[in-house]
This record gives sequence, structure tokens and C-alpha cells, in this order.
Amino acid sequence: MSTHITVKEYRRRLKAAAREAKDAGVGALLVTPGADLQYLCGYDAVALERLTCLVITPDGPTRIVVPELEVLAAQASPIADLDVEIVSWTETEDPHRAVAKLCAKATRVWVNPQMWASHVFAFQNQFRLARLGPDQIVATLRLRKSKVEVAALAEAGAAIDRVHAKVPGMLRPGRTEREVGAQIAEEILAQGHATVDFVIVASGPNGASPHHEVSDRVIEVGDPIVVDIGGTMPSGYCSDCTRTYAIGQPPDDYLAAYQVLRQAQRAAVEHVRPGVTCASVDAAARDVLADAGLGEAFVHRTGHGIGMSTHEDPYIVAGNDTPVEAGFAFSVEPGFYLPGRYGARIEDIVVATEDGVLRCNNETHDLVIVDD
Ligand code: ZN
Ligand code: ZN
Repeated sequence: MSTHITVKEYRRRLKAAAREAKDAGVGALLVTPGADLQYLCGYDAVALERLTCLVITPDGPTRIVVPELEVLAAQASPIADLDVEIVSWTETEDPHRAVAKLCAKATRVWVNPQMWASHVFAFQNQFRLARLGPDQIVATLRLRKSKVEVAALAEAGAAIDRVHAKVPGMLRPGRTEREVGAQIAEEILAQGHATVDFVIVASGPNGASPHHEVSDRVIEVGDPIVVDIGGTMPSGYCSDCTRTYAIGQPPDDYLAAYQVLRQAQRAAVEHVRPGVTCASVDAAARDVLADAGLGEAFVHRTGHGIGMSTHEDPYIVAGNDTPVEAGFAFSVEPGFYLPGRYGARIEDIVVATEDGVLRCNNETHDLVIVDD
């Protein structure tokens, strides 16, 4: 039985957004297609030049302005069961003006940070007296995962774990990264994801580039291979998991560095609990690598929040002194990258709980050596 977000939960989210807007003195909250819109009302609309925009006014009705040709699509979404009025616009109308009219009294208008700049500028022209600013309300709501969201992330984690369990059978010398990547993408769908979001198969020296995707490089005996993969489940929640493999025995210095990475990743996961700062989770991993002389080779933050987007708050990075709360979900993904030689990364999604941490990814963290 797959997790799904109930109408009751969407109602709770919309109500919370309106309440927070009121407390912040925000007269209107405008949300165009993207993860924020999907979070609030379950409508997975495509972001286009034609305006679709949810309009939350703290004391008035909640409405969604949609192109006439998308009314049926909106009605087919959970919106139909929520107290959201659908307001359509025809091809010859100005939808930004229509939105401005719905919240004419607002002096402070917040827009979702992922709104297209073309829409922001069009709104700026319409709201002559109101001040436009980036919304912080929905990101804050999304930060603290509810029980059903945690279940959805655990389900996504289990699905991507099943893909990783099959990766050793796909890795053979003589195959290209692209061939392996295509097979992994099929498996991501076969294991229950609705979409494939990214597939990284970084073999040999390509492993030193953290965001390498796939290439026509032929996998060779002795290669370490970083496989970082993720997709979105029908629930709307994302998976993201990295494991590192090797074809035959990699060099001794690589094996030694991998053991340090393994300890660094474990130290950071075990550090997670309510009250510790995001920066301290980053430090827990970074200190282990630095003590072994690999500090310079760990070139990115330790992690990112995850939910209906693969990357969202909180960011697990030095300087982020936000305390972790129960319900925060994020990746713990230290790595080391030595240009021209090789790289490695271990990534799990974890959720802070009242008394510790829930691990969403549970395939082995050891270097998986595939026979050559
Ligand atoms: Zn990843
Ligand atoms: Zn990640």
C-alpha cells in the first residue's frame, strides 16, 4: 500500500499557511506551480508562461487562478476536495491583473521563491502599492515533516535501496556508464518511482566530479564507481541515495580512504538528534575526513533537506546554526574527490525523531566489490 497525502492533511497545510501569513502581516501569498504548490494542495501543475497561481489571503477565501484550458486538470487534482475556489482566465485576459484584483487590499505580498521571474515582474507591475517579497512560510512548514511525510520518505528510501541492491549485477567491465545508467533508470521506475530525477554513474576518474552524470566512458577493471540515484514516488516525495562500488580490487590507498569516509558518514548520522545544529552534523563528518588528511578532498556540504524537492531546507553546512528538530529530513553524504584519480561518496536520507534518528536507506555502506 503506497503512502498518499489525505485531503485532511492538505487542509491542515493550507490553514497553517494562512495562519502564518496573518501572523507575518502578509496580505496575500502567491504560489505558482512547483513543490510549494504541490505541498499545499496536491496540484502537480506544469510551470508555464501561462499563469497558474494559488492565492492565499489570511481572512478571505483561498483561490487558484488557472488558464481556462487547465480547469479540468485542476479539478482532477485534490483541489476539487479542498475549500479552494477555481478562477479561470481566457487567452485574451491578463491573469496577473486578475490575481492583483483578488487581493487588492494587500500591502505585503509574498511569492514562492521558485516563481518564474517573468511572473514576478508582471506582478510587480500590477501591485503598485504592495511590497513584493520572497515567501518564507511554506519552506518553514515543509521543513518539519509530518508522520505521513516521514512514511513517504521511508517508502522512497526503501524503493531506491532495492535499485541499489541490483546495481552490482549491472556493473561489468566493457559496459559504458551510459548503458548502466539507462538500466538503472528503468529499475528506478520498476521499483515504484513515478519519475527518474537523476542518475549518476561516475567511474574511475569521473568519480572525482561530484555532479558528473553519465558518459560514454567504458568501465574498466579496478575502477571505483560512484552511483548516486533518485526519483519521485507517486506520493510526490523523493529518494536520493549514493553507494560506491568497485570492479575488482581498487588500490590500497583508495580502500584506506574509503574506510575513513565510512567512519565520517557514520559519525554524522549518529550525531543527528533534536537540538544539535545543522552545522554540527556537517562538522561531525568533516572532522573525521580532515583528521585523516582528506579535508581538502571533501569539497561540498554534508547534506541537504529532502521532501517534495530533492534539495530543500535544511542545508547541512558550516554556518547553519539552525537546531535540528524532530521531523527534519535531510541527506548525510560526505565524499572525497581527487581530480584525475577517483572519488567516493556515501549518502543516506535520515529523519530526526524525538529521541534520535530514522534511517531511510539501509543497503550496506561498505564498498561493494563486484567480481571482474
Ligand atoms: Zn545524491
Ligand atoms: Zn543528495
